[in-house]
Amino acid sequence: MSSRVQNIRGMRDHLPSAMILRQHIVATLVSVFERYGFEPLQTPVIEYAETLDGKIGDDEKLIYRFEDHGGRKVALRYDQTVPLARVVAQYQGQLLFPWRRYAIGQSYRGERPGRGRYRELWQADVDIVGSSSPVADAEIIALLTDSLVALGFTGFTTLLSHRQLLGGIARVSGLDDAAAGNVYRAIDKLDKIGVDGVRAELLAGGVAHDAVERILALISLRGAADDVLAELAQRLSGDERALAAVNNLQAIISHVRAMGVPEQQFTIAPSLARGLSYYTGSVFETVVHNPPMGSLLGGGRYDELIGLFAGRPIPTVGLAFGIERLHDVMEELGLGPQARTVAVALMTIFSPEMAPASLALAHELRAAGLAIEVALDPGEKLGKQLQYADRRGMPYALVLGPDELAHGEVVVKDLRTGDQRRLARSVVADALRRM
Ligand code: AMP
Repeated sequence: MSSRVQNIRGMRDHLPSAMILRQHIVATLVSVFERYGFEPLQTPVIEYAETLDGKIGDDEKLIYRFEDHGGRKVALRYDQTVPLARVVAQYQGQLLFPWRRYAIGQSYRGERPGRGRYRELWQADVDIVGSSSPVADAEIIALLTDSLVALGFTGFTTLLSHRQLLGGIARVSGLDDAAAGNVYRAIDKLDKIGVDGVRAELLAGGVAHDAVERILALISLRGAADDVLAELAQRLSGDERALAAVNNLQAIISHVRAMGVPEQQFTIAPSLARGLSYYTGSVFETVVHNPPMGSLLGGGRYDELIGLFAGRPIPTVGLAFGIERLHDVMEELGLGPQARTVAVALMTIFSPEMAPASLALAHELRAAGLAIEVALDPGEKLGKQLQYADRRGMPYALVLGPDELAHGEVVVKDLRTGDQRRLARSVVADALRRM
């Protein structure tokens, strides 16, 4: 046993003030998800290792694996998408498609920890299972936009692309499907190594100079979504699969617009690769303009993954919000509740004789739906009790002395300003709620 009293690197403890923000994030997401008709699902954190094997691509080495007490080979889930695929296959007789489900929970990745990169990460997933309609892709994009707005984000952009675009870009540059894989891996690093890095990597991988420049020109296209798609359609005109991808993206963004997503909140980004190997169609991720923090969420269409379990293809589109990143960015931007305690007020105890009346008042206010903490030591000086409430960050303290009791009143003290008001007992709950 290690003598260190220490949590594992890349996994976080969240003390109450952080949890207040996290629970606000989760509650806000749930309310938006349910407004779109998504239903909750929960699955275990541990799966049979073979359920996860061969599903996520190169990062499979990051999966935490071990043998359980029965000697079974098991693994901590890497995401909530592969478990969803397992669930759909296992319960397909009971599910009605299209099926919209959300799942909020932790996954584990043995990554090198860094800014926004953890080994235990909570994600909030939404997926529409059993539909290949571009309306489903658009629903997910409208939902993510509404979710971020509900959380208070303003400056963010959703980058949108399609798996078949990069393939098409490689093909019209004269590369075969095998070489396209290398192109795709190099482009996936664009954010980390820049255009020059991608150029160097493609050249080192044996891609001809001309082809490299053509690829870089295509993935660097930027501008209004319709213009970029028109340009891509023209430059990829010899490649049927890529043209189908362009048409699919066109359909998706027309539905996205119809659902009220403003033009400045999405863009076509042909360079978007997204690491996970199960994507087959649209791919997207959303970034905040400030502070720098990778993607807040990522998703796309995966029409074949579930088929690996279900024995028949079940087209699906979905996304995962990274709750760790939402949390870190919201903390940095000062978004969300600023409260440091869940209690709005401390019910002080004026003197040992006043304890029963004070506890009864606390009970009455709790029954009215208010979060009230009670002082625990009836003998403690009132000043000490107020100091405790203030240091905890509680906005109010309530004082019930013999005189207030006799007049049916309560003193409500605002601990931030020091102001205090004597209110009729019957209006205290309403007053606290309003304040
Ligand atoms: P993925 O499941 O890889 O598609 O990622 C979806 C989202 O989860 C990303 O956009 C991030 O917000 C978040 N995420 C992925 N990996 C990590 C990690 N190691 N630590 C924290 N958040 C992560």
